[in-house]
Amino acid sequence: MSNPHQNAVAQLTQVAKLLRLNYQDRGKEFDRVIKKLTKPDRVFTTELKVIMDDGSTKQFKAFRSQHNNARGPYKGGIRYHQDVSEAEVKALSTWMTWKCAVTGLPYGGAKGGIIVNPRELSPTELERLSRAYSRWLVDKIGVWVDVPAPDVNTTGQIMAWMVDEYQQALSEQGLIQENPLGTFTGKPIELGGSQGREEATGLGGVFVLEKLVKALNLIPKTTTIAVQGFGNVGYWFARHAQDRGYKVIAISDSKGGTFAPEGLDIAKALAHKQDKGSITGFAKPITNEELLELEVDILVPAALENAIHKDNAAKIQAKAIIEMGNGPVTPEADPILAKNKVLIVPDVLANSGGVTVSYFEWVQNLQGYYWTHQEVISKLQPLMEKAFDEMWAAREEHQVDGRMATYLTAVGRVVDAMLLRGGEKVLK
Ligand code: NAD
Repeated sequence: MSNPHQNAVAQLTQVAKLLRLNYQDRGKEFDRVIKKLTKPDRVFTTELKVIMDDGSTKQFKAFRSQHNNARGPYKGGIRYHQDVSEAEVKALSTWMTWKCAVTGLPYGGAKGGIIVNPRELSPTELERLSRAYSRWLVDKIGVWVDVPAPDVNTTGQIMAWMVDEYQQALSEQGLIQENPLGTFTGKPIELGGSQGREEATGLGGVFVLEKLVKALNLIPKTTTIAVQGFGNVGYWFARHAQDRGYKVIAISDSKGGTFAPEGLDIAKALAHKQDKGSITGFAKPITNEELLELEVDILVPAALENAIHKDNAAKIQAKAIIEMGNGPVTPEADPILAKNKVLIVPDVLANSGGVTVSYFEWVQNLQGYYWTHQEVISKLQPLMEKAFDEMWAAREEHQVDGRMATYLTAVGRVVDAMLLRGGEKVLK
């Protein structure tokens, strides 16, 4: 089985074949740019030493991959997970480059990670680990260099510790960072965070849903939706979809799912989850596998990678999939879904609302002037809608699927920036 970075390179190679037609007069330079994009600009690796509560010292392997900064500072989250690997952070940093280009953010792509199961650490150990990682990053990041953010298992509190450590480490070296707050996003509101960040990914996905439903000539009131994963992204997606009149008929978490053909009350479902620790038992029971195979209009995988794979792809009955999680559909499943005319709005577009509001947070930190919730949302909506329109137009123009159409636009923007810059990346 190929690793995530090999998948990312395979996708890029496939897109480049079609994209090359637009660059025939600069074919050689185009090829060099694509070759350059198959690898991150640099990948840093270290072993972080952390003193545990019992006085012993433990080592944790950590990474930061900076893929490309042709369009602006590197941008990407930090993941704490036992399955983090160098191949994974390299792939995720590559996807961040495309994700930032999809909505036209002035950023490149990066990703960081630590091999750790944070549930096995005490709060003080988690803080020491986060501070050690931030200190290690001091000479690698900066408000105009590389701007980290939270990802799986990292929170606003962790960003707050990292900002604090970053600022302290710089001042110990006699350096003044003019804008330490702008060097990290996903911070708590009290520490320079943005209004609307928590719901941004789910709500951004609903702006995409609205465009898709119109394009498919569906009617919101009778459009049925199933959402796999009821965490931050799944909850906010389901909540905003229901508020707009859609029928969310099934939701699930890692323990199982719940189903009501007449539509679920999402606010009550959240209260149930908070009370019982899981969504199961709220309405009729359904397994995660059954949820994916329901006859709904829109299927929304918002949990982990590889939910839809070669063995279940043929059983998907939805008209369209909005990928709210990262990488929920495997490369082997894509052609099976395409054959069955299941339309895909890919992750780099559908869940880009999160990084878009992270960008707004950075802009607010640079200005030292903070926007209202309404201002944030009113700036998010047009960017998501434009990204969808561009995908839809590229899909029709090139007769390709939604994933390829999104990549054509995003990779094209990065290639253009690199060709404009010229220099070593293009000439050697
Ligand atoms: P989260 O931890 O808040 O929620 C994840 C949810 O998925 C939980 O409800 C969990 O129980 C459920 N889950 C886990 N395994 C499952 C399984 N096998 N079947 C069904 N449900 C399962 O995480 P999140 O922030 O909501 O992120 C979800 C996905 O969205 C991830 O792929 C993440 O990388 C991606 N994403 C998140 C953001 C963001 O802003 N949070 C932005 C972009 C992409």
